[in-house]
Amino acid sequence: VVRLHDVHKSFGALKVLDGVSLDVGPGEVAAIIGQSGSGKSTALRCINALETIQQGTIHVCGHAIHDPQLDRRALRRDVGIVFQSYNLFPHLTAEQNIMLAPTCVKGMTKAQARELAREVLSHVGLAEKAEHYPEQLSGGQQQRVAIARSLAMRPKLMLFDEVTSALDPQLTGEVLKVMENLAREGMTMILVTHEMAFARKVASKVVYMHRGRVWETGTGAMLDDPQTPELRAFIGNGL
Ligand code: ATP
Ligand code: MG
Repeated sequence: VVRLHDVHKSFGALKVLDGVSLDVGPGEVAAIIGQSGSGKSTALRCINALETIQQGTIHVCGHAIHDPQLDRRALRRDVGIVFQSYNLFPHLTAEQNIMLAPTCVKGMTKAQARELAREVLSHVGLAEKAEHYPEQLSGGQQQRVAIARSLAMRPKLMLFDEVTSALDPQLTGEVLKVMENLAREGMTMILVTHEMAFARKVASKVVYMHRGRVWETGTGAMLDDPQTPELRAFIGNGL
């Protein structure tokens, strides 16, 4: 589903991705971990064509991301992304937030989109909150609406960038539960996370990034037996 080969990305003189290669197969859950500034978010943004790369190739769901002719609209239909800040429209209810893209982008009728919104909201455990505005929802609930909004587009791949880092522990648990269910249903996901326990349990592949490189990669068990001093130090910091 996703293949990065020798990806290089700089911002001016600052080298942020220094030869990143990564494969994520269908139904896989890849967790990217690493220090602040190691290039995790940039890697995710490159996968979704939010950044251009200087060297290397990226293939995502059959789209050649590095190709200047890339059809971004087609890519957006296949890939959902959720960030730390939920970016819901404050003047729209949960349901209306979700209906927006299906009506505007996919040309669904309002009735169809409403039905779809109800379905994805119940999927994230928020069926009864459809008529609520974002300010009437907790942070965790808002984040789940944001996830539901992505799911409404029926993506083939979901990207999550530290979606729980703004939440307190209890709300974090609710959101992680939703992501775990998605994983169990076979959704292909790449997530940047500081939740080591979640990475260990849910991820089929853990990717430790350090200084713009994939420093170490393996299954969740790799966190119990780091092979490099850098990963050992990172885990030791209790992050
Ligand atoms: P964090 O854990 O803090 O989110 P990260 O691993 O996600 O860190 P990135 O956001 O990928 O790190 O940033 C990697 C480096 O690239 C940082 O040094 C950052 O300052 C720099 N950087 C990111 N985006 C830009 C930009 N648009 N312009 C210039 N520099 C940038
Ligand atoms: Mg980041």
